Amino acid sequence: MSEQPVIVVGAGIAGLTASALLAHEGVPVILLESHHQPGGCAGTFCRGNFVFDVGATQVAGFEVGGIHERIFRHLQVPLPVCDLLNPGCVVQLADGSHPIQLWHDPMQWAEERERQFPGSKAFWRLCTDLHNSNWEFASRNPVLPASNVWDFWELIRALRPNNLLSGIFSTCSVSDLLFLTGCQKDQRLTAFLDLQLKLYSQEPAKRTAALYGSTVLQMAQKPLGLWHLHGSMQKLSESLANSLLRDGAKLFLKHRVIQLKVATKKESWRIDALDSKGLPKYFSAPDVIFTLPPQSLLDLMPLESGMPKSYRRKLSQLPQPSGALVFYGALDRNYLPSECPTHLQIEAQDPGSVFLSISREGDGRAPAGQATVIASIFAECSYWMSLDESNYRNQKQLMMKKIIQILEHWLGIAPHNWLHKELATPRSFAKWTGRPGGMVGGLGQQPLRFGPFGLHSRTPMNGLWLCGDSIYPGEGTAGVSQSALMACRQLMAQRNKKMYLVS
Ligand SMILES: Cc1cc2nc3c(=O)[nH]c(=O)nc-3n(C[C@H](O)[C@H](O)[C@H](O)COP(=O)(O)OP(=O)(O)OC[C@H]3O[C@@H](n4cnc5c(N)ncnc54)[C@H](O)[C@@H]3O)c2cc1C
Repeated sequence: MSEQPVIVVGAGIAGLTASALLAHEGVPVILLESHHQPGGCAGTFCRGNFVFDVGATQVAGFEVGGIHERIFRHLQVPLPVCDLLNPGCVVQLADGSHPIQLWHDPMQWAEERERQFPGSKAFWRLCTDLHNSNWEFASRNPVLPASNVWDFWELIRALRPNNLLSGIFSTCSVSDLLFLTGCQKDQRLTAFLDLQLKLYSQEPAKRTAALYGSTVLQMAQKPLGLWHLHGSMQKLSESLANSLLRDGAKLFLKHRVIQLKVATKKESWRIDALDSKGLPKYFSAPDVIFTLPPQSLLDLMPLESGMPKSYRRKLSQLPQPSGALVFYGALDRNYLPSECPTHLQIEAQDPGSVFLSISREGDGRAPAGQATVIASIFAECSYWMSLDESNYRNQKQLMMKKIIQILEHWLGIAPHNWLHKELATPRSFAKWTGRPGGMVGGLGQQPLRFGPFGLHSRTPMNGLWLCGDSIYPGEGTAGVSQSALMACRQLMAQRNKKMYLVS
């Protein structure tokens, strides 16, 4: 009997990965994307000769055995060309001290830590032990949180005796680890952890799950690493799109999904979309993988569409994720400091800490001798969405000025050096990525929201599966790829098919 189709909603990295994996298994896939290009928050846009990465600028999981590398190997598609970032990032605490360099070599990083945070060895040792325990577990593709017998079996199958350590710390925060190792009074270390963790988990050390924090704090070090893609971030999406098209999936760009409902006659889903001309299109399949923030379901599934009331309540009570203000600038490279790092995090009170990504010569983002400069800070979505037009314009100008001042101060740039400058706000992200209120990132990785306590990829509506940055293990292109793999495995298991990825 021929395989039943699957509809995937959203062609960000989660949707592209899920579609490519399923198409590779011979499943007929229909991928619906509202934008004119795939990629979502990991896409790009052009201004003149400059190519800007919209959101994601560096990627994890490209090392051998990393999630992107394993998926590309499984799909038999070449991994996009990339360079290892060493240091992965430079963190400027703006307290007059020397910036912290996240070296790739674990020994060099250990020396840097000891120089920067003397007496913190016990904290880092505990983080390393926890990370090792987590990482082995994660690489055995557990299902988290588990909802049925198959999920529990997959979870148990991934467990080993040494995962007991992770179990013990499952409700702890990173601040608890500082306390347990006697490092809680080290204010510089706490400031560093707050900055770094906020980038990955949207939360400071005291509210970041120890299991999540201990791993993201070691993403830049061997055997893992952070990578810079040649060309632009779009290369990741392009490679996944090529794979899914090669394997027979259908990608419908400029198709905005406006409604999902359980079709009454067959045990099937009906998806309503509008094409580029605004004309209605209908699709149906027994399974749907939904990759938008799950909060979007509240609008896309009206009351009578088959969503249980308790699930609607659960989704409406999800915490409000952050938004982002992202500055996209360009200038001649000779105005940048000679040893300028590619990725820099700078502590700032007003308008908030800045994460900076600067293109490399010849990396495809700017003409020879020029560079793109992307700087992002966190922003409150509800504030930006509530402003009237004139206040919105004023606030946008003001925030862009503040971000530019920080860049000019730390990089020694003069105001007239900019060749291009523009700012994206949560409103821009809402418009271009369709994320409700412009929310970016997942749900925040607090101890009681991470892993076993997170949102399930299996929904109470038969045949509707979730993946993306609100699902385990969370945000980032590597995280959403892992969640896509998990949802695909669950879906295939429901169809009595096994799906394994090479390790
Ligand atoms: C400023 C910023 C910086 C970041 N930096 C990094 C980084 O350096 N490294 C990293 O790994 N991650 C980073 N991230 C996070 C990373 O980009 C995301 O976690 C990841 O790309 C999310 O992928 P996704 O597929 O889950 O969702 P999305 O990328 O949001 O994809 C969802 C897709 O669905 C489409 N869509 C929306 N509504 C509809 C609809 N109604 N119908 C059809 N299609 C629809 C959208 O157009 C989009 O293509 C960053 C994010 C931001 C915003």
